[in-house]
Amino acid sequence: MVIDRLRPPVGVLEIADRLEQHGFEVWCVGGAIRDALLGHPHLDWDLATSAKPADVQRLFGHRKTIPVGLEFGTVGVLDSQGVMHEVTTFRRDVRTDGRHAEVEFGVSLDEDLARRDFTINAVAFSPRRHEVRDPFGGQSDLQARIVRAVGDPDARMREDRLRALRGIRFAARFDFEIEPATLRAIEASAPFLGRLSPERVKQELDKTMAQIDRPSAALRIWQSSGAFNTLLPELAAAAPSALTAPDFAAKPGRARRPARRTIRFAALLASLTPADAGAVMRRLRASRHEIQTVVNLVSLWHTIGREMTIALTSGEPPDSIVRRWVSTIGRLQVGEFTRLANALWEADRAQGRPAPAARSISSAYRRMQRSAFSDPIDLGALVVDGDDLRRAGIPPGPVLGKILQALLAAVIEEPHRNTTDWLLQEARRRHADASRDTGDGGRT
Ligand code: ATP
Ligand code: MG
Repeated sequence: MVIDRLRPPVGVLEIADRLEQHGFEVWCVGGAIRDALLGHPHLDWDLATSAKPADVQRLFGHRKTIPVGLEFGTVGVLDSQGVMHEVTTFRRDVRTDGRHAEVEFGVSLDEDLARRDFTINAVAFSPRRHEVRDPFGGQSDLQARIVRAVGDPDARMREDRLRALRGIRFAARFDFEIEPATLRAIEASAPFLGRLSPERVKQELDKTMAQIDRPSAALRIWQSSGAFNTLLPELAAAAPSALTAPDFAAKPGRARRPARRTIRFAALLASLTPADAGAVMRRLRASRHEIQTVVNLVSLWHTIGREMTIALTSGEPPDSIVRRWVSTIGRLQVGEFTRLANALWEADRAQGRPAPAARSISSAYRRMQRSAFSDPIDLGALVVDGDDLRRAGIPPGPVLGKILQALLAAVIEEPHRNTTDWLLQEARRRHADASRDTGDGGRT
């Protein structure tokens, strides 16, 4: 492969030099080598070394090191620019139970490469000697675009079931085939994925949503292999358009905007009830904020998605309808919700189902945004509030709340009604109506 593509950043070279000067072996390993050989930029250049964690800490001093995971041999080392690089001691997994590993140091580079999951992740490069060590044929698998387990696939998946999910992710991310025996081992792992901690599963899904242009390529294998069945049974029978919907929401990209990732989750879960969508996110131990955002977006979709679909497919909705949508969605959520709706519509269209045209969607979006910042669409924008109504003689209580909501609906319908005179008069009229209805001894 193209060894010229392997250009570690200076900071990595400095760290490697220092370790070599003290007689230790150093290699760049893992994702950076794989990505560089594929011609993709990669930010994290990890180093593997014969130095023990204590040697690394001693050599770089406590001000330039961070104990990232000492029990697994990983020390974070800051380069002269203050960028952190992971330096991990050559290690071998001595005991594994499908979730955790106990590791042993003092082994060779080749043993260290042998415990890695896939051949494409098991290529090492010496940054000073420009030597490539590739005992499992990772370069030829990269060229042939194949994800293949290092060693016996079944045994490797039994050691750590997360590898099944990782294999799916790498295949989808690079558009690679999964080698048949590796795929069989992934499928055979599916019933055992429940042993993984929810945090590791969530992290895999996060990376799937964040790294892959079309996450559906991975999600389809989650479904066909039985991974959904074990981990997220709500999605085991999801329709194809549910799995493709996240493809149509933008990838978080370099900015790593977590909000984008959340919209992809909402797109995946929008066909479920809001309660089930929330249950999925809670089971994955998503943050409170992310759970709430997904539940809120999915609920909104269930509330007004259908109405918006019909209105935007059949023409230009009037301003009053646009204002009502913005009021339901909430001023600040218009952007997020439109991104979700757009993804769901595009997924429908790709399946040959009716959906609004891109032009109608973007025109509606512009109108909603304008409305969100200029129209009276929430209670705070009414020129009267509860205190004003009380002073006008309406007693506090549920009736007053209902009257305020009715005033808001009337103003959303006709914004020019948002004046003190009109609103107080309307409030008194509604209050009188309500008193007459109840004061009549219940005869209606
Ligand atoms: P990404 O771009 O997703 O970070 P990566 O290959 O860098 O991809 P990491 O999770 O950062 O993945 O792991 C770095 C390296 O450690 C991998 O390339 C692989 O060699 C090894 N590795 C990581 N997780 C496992 C695992 N569960 N089993 C075996 N080897 C692993
Ligand atoms: Mg990495």
